[in-house]
Amino acid sequence: MSEQQRAPHLSAEQFRAQAHQVVDWIADYWESVGERPVLSQVEPGAVAAAVDGTIPDQPESLDAVLADVDQHLVPGLTHWQHPRFFAYFPANSSPAGVLGDLLSSGIGAQGMLWATSPAVTELEQVVLDQLARALGLSDAFCHLRDDGSPGAGGGVIQDTASTATFTALLAALHRATGGRARTEGVEQGRYTVYASTQAHSSLQKAAMMSGLGERAVRLVDVDPWTQQLDVDRLREAIEADVAAGRVPVMVQACVGTTGTGAVDPVAAIGEVTRRHGVWLHVDAAWAGVAALCPEHAWVNEGVAELADSYVTNPHKWLLTTFDCSTFWVRDRSALVGALSILPEYLRNPATESGAVVDYRDWHPQLGRRFRALKLWTVLRSYGLSGLRAHLRAGIAQAARVAELVDADPRLELAAPPVLGLVSFRLASSDGLGAGRADQLTREVMDRVNASGAAYLSHGQVAGRPFVRWACGGWRTGAEDVEQTWAELDRTLTELLPTR
Ligand SMILES: *Cc1c(COP(=O)(O)O)cnc(C)c1O
Repeated sequence: MSEQQRAPHLSAEQFRAQAHQVVDWIADYWESVGERPVLSQVEPGAVAAAVDGTIPDQPESLDAVLADVDQHLVPGLTHWQHPRFFAYFPANSSPAGVLGDLLSSGIGAQGMLWATSPAVTELEQVVLDQLARALGLSDAFCHLRDDGSPGAGGGVIQDTASTATFTALLAALHRATGGRARTEGVEQGRYTVYASTQAHSSLQKAAMMSGLGERAVRLVDVDPWTQQLDVDRLREAIEADVAAGRVPVMVQACVGTTGTGAVDPVAAIGEVTRRHGVWLHVDAAWAGVAALCPEHAWVNEGVAELADSYVTNPHKWLLTTFDCSTFWVRDRSALVGALSILPEYLRNPATESGAVVDYRDWHPQLGRRFRALKLWTVLRSYGLSGLRAHLRAGIAQAARVAELVDADPRLELAAPPVLGLVSFRLASSDGLGAGRADQLTREVMDRVNASGAAYLSHGQVAGRPFVRWACGGWRTGAEDVEQTWAELDRTLTELLPTR
């Protein structure tokens, strides 16, 4: 028998050297990313064709890997950490986020049960309690109440807001069916879910995945200017369903819609859900973290008193490298009731004692990584003052964008600017019909994006397209706003030469 080959793990010294090399690569990337086109300009299939499609038989060096990253992958990247990335919402990484993530990777712990790594669970509970208080959610959503007694609710880190919304719906359904949803499934057409027409598509997806079906979702009208959910329409929709013998399960309020950033009136919605005993889930994926600033605490108004669950994504605006979505419930028994299952191989004394939280019961998957370490590293490295400075910088940049749009007769706001987001379009006029203005709105955005100078995205209200300019990137400075505006101005002048 031949001697078995030893696996070529790096020695501690080799790892140290190569890790430094990777950190140097990242630091250089961040320093130079602003000189690259924001939006990747490769054709479909180009990256796949360039990358060697076979796994090497013999070990290769990190140098070889990094050379391919530079040559074949970087051109195929859209640079989300670019200072002029203004599309979608920011997905901020940060030095602290990367370092916390690296620590978590190195520790490599699996936190599915408290017993499989107590620190993974307990740090997550502590960090989520801290963050809940800082966001104004109150101790109703904390593992430990202000007086030190155990809370009925608590927070958990999910991979994404989509998963958080899905679990919120499962918990709501558990409560509405008295637990029958998990044993018997759901009766067709009996249960209903509500949100505004501006709700994120993850709600429909949750309805599909839960077995309720897309048709269970009632999309309620919004105010034509502010794009906020119309509470009277919501009340009518719920009352009509109840009168028809259906069971309203959940209302989702949005704090910062994906389209225009609209903040639904959570307190008024909460009065309706309370009256009907319906679960209120608040999707604050992007905007919720703004509440860390006292002057923006209003975005979470009503949540502490009336919401049943709440999600916001530190992996968007709050400098925590993807993924990290923080989700809280007021009553954890509905969530755990919907999702707990205890096969023999997971039985252990800590779980049986009931004295610990086992996070595997808080989301669809079993295994989970130590994401709290990443978030904790960010919160401590920046401190509240540093996080507020970052949030305020993005909001100030958006105010500048709104001022430029306002002052330009060729453009108009499509909805009120909210926090770091400005939505605008070409203004129609005597010489420019709405149809042509809409065409030009798309064209202006496409041209700016194709230039590589900046990256903007689009949305639609009442059938009319608009451009979304989302500020809040951690590398974005005031000069990046001016530079992007200059490109936009030049493009408008090209397209509208006669005005
Ligand atoms: C981004 C966003 C989501 C989805 O977030 P993921 O974490 O990517 O699932 C949901 N709702 C709103 C309002 C968002 O802005």
